[in-house]
Amino acid sequence: MKGVAEDRSEAEFGDLKPAYSRTQALVEANRCLYCFDPPCVRACPTSIDIPQFIRRIAEDNVEGAARSIFEKNILGMSCARVCPVEVLCVGKCVFNEAEVVPIEIGRLQRFATDRAYEEEWRFFEAGEDTGLKVALIGGGPASLAAAHELRRLGHAVDLFEKSNRLGGLNRSGIAPYKMKSGRAEEEVEWVLSVGGIGLRLETSIPEDISWTEIEKRYDAVFLGMGLGPDTILPIEGRNLKGVYGAVALIERIKLGSADLDGVRTAIVLGGGNTAIDMARELRGLGVEEVIMAYRGRREVMSGYAHEWSRAVKEGVIAQWSCQPLEILGSDGRVEAVRFQRLDAQKSPIPGEEFTLSANLVAFALGQQKLGNLVAGLDGIEVVGGRIVVGQSGATGRPGFFAGGDCANGGKEVVNAVAEGKAAALAIHEYLESRSD
Ligand SMILES: Cc1cc2nc3c(=O)[nH]c(=O)nc-3n(C[C@H](O)[C@H](O)[C@H](O)COP(=O)(O)OP(=O)(O)OC[C@H]3O[C@@H](n4cnc5c(N)ncnc54)[C@H](O)[C@@H]3O)c2cc1C
Ligand code: SF4
Repeated sequence: MKGVAEDRSEAEFGDLKPAYSRTQALVEANRCLYCFDPPCVRACPTSIDIPQFIRRIAEDNVEGAARSIFEKNILGMSCARVCPVEVLCVGKCVFNEAEVVPIEIGRLQRFATDRAYEEEWRFFEAGEDTGLKVALIGGGPASLAAAHELRRLGHAVDLFEKSNRLGGLNRSGIAPYKMKSGRAEEEVEWVLSVGGIGLRLETSIPEDISWTEIEKRYDAVFLGMGLGPDTILPIEGRNLKGVYGAVALIERIKLGSADLDGVRTAIVLGGGNTAIDMARELRGLGVEEVIMAYRGRREVMSGYAHEWSRAVKEGVIAQWSCQPLEILGSDGRVEAVRFQRLDAQKSPIPGEEFTLSANLVAFALGQQKLGNLVAGLDGIEVVGGRIVVGQSGATGRPGFFAGGDCANGGKEVVNAVAEGKAAALAIHEYLESRSD
């Protein structure tokens, strides 16, 4: 696993949905009805032709199946592992209506795409040189998908990434029982193998190169810089040792050591998927008591129900309808959190406060938006921190397109891939229209 420390904390995790053997894949593929106008395809943001690739697996044509997947989604290997299939393709499979176990589309996709990696099948090459250049800001799934498509169309591309590695949150954020960071790095190599993707690592835009300079050097720009650091509530005690932002702590678990020595009780603040991931990862690393504290009731949490029920099975405890007032500590280290109880409308219930002990507190209240990076670029509208885009990712500034978390506010990898690819096609159209 290139570039990833072998002794990192994430190595302790197993595989949530282990790989199929050939026989298992054949049996599962043969259950599919190959529906006409299939709801599973409509539920896939990248429109993978699911019955087609499953039929190919059933016919033992794994190479054809992999081609069919990658044609639509060049990050199909990671999406097979990280997609919330329960609310996308699998959740929409017709078998659900008949109360029959739905087809395990993600695991079949993993079977075909893993095989493509093992066999080093290569399906795509760069198109004939157009002499036009596109800058892509950010090296996460959105920009990777856009860069691959633009190369196939023959445009020169340069990827600007502020960190020293590509992959974005797909490398540093995904729960380790779904996918490990080394796998995300292999995927980056897979995307780069189309050839000719210029890399500018450790380069932050516009800090290191101004927008004026970027506009001078490139014919079009794709903005795929994702979201910013964790949102931390401005409450007393937030700077104590043992208090973290969840995305930052997950990155430590994935790429280094979480150093949880002496941590017996952890409180995760939030009720979204990052909060659930954080809680499960802490439990998985041996923290005895993990409490997820959320402002609302269970019914209104934004985290997926299937993820929460897994967390409960793994021993995560919930505190619903409460908000932190203060983090208490001694000798500079966190010791407890004082909470306010809230009613069903999330308003404080007077006099109802309580304190829970903890050696670790993680804020999982969302990430800051990075819309301010494009401040000063006339025509680009930013609402609520998100870059406003129209059809296919076009912003209000000619030649500037955006996609992924920075434009959609934070969704899934598959959305970032779909938006990156759609923007690449729109950039191609824009460049062609200019050269007419
Ligand atoms: C904890 C966590 C768990 C998740 N789990 C899942 C999951 O299980 N399944 C799923 O589908 N999705 C999951 N997601 C969401 C998914 O990771 C994102 O939707 C996806 O990575 C978005 O891709 P992106 O390319 O838009 O942004 P990112 O992946 O964030 O990539 C943006 C890149 O831009 C770089 N960048 C930022 N600013 C600049 C700048 N100024 N100049 C140059 N480079 C810059 C960043 O360093 C980063 O590499 C998770 C997210 C989090 C936080
Ligand atoms: S809906 Fe289910 S059965 Fe129909 S094609 Fe999709 S996976 Fe196969």
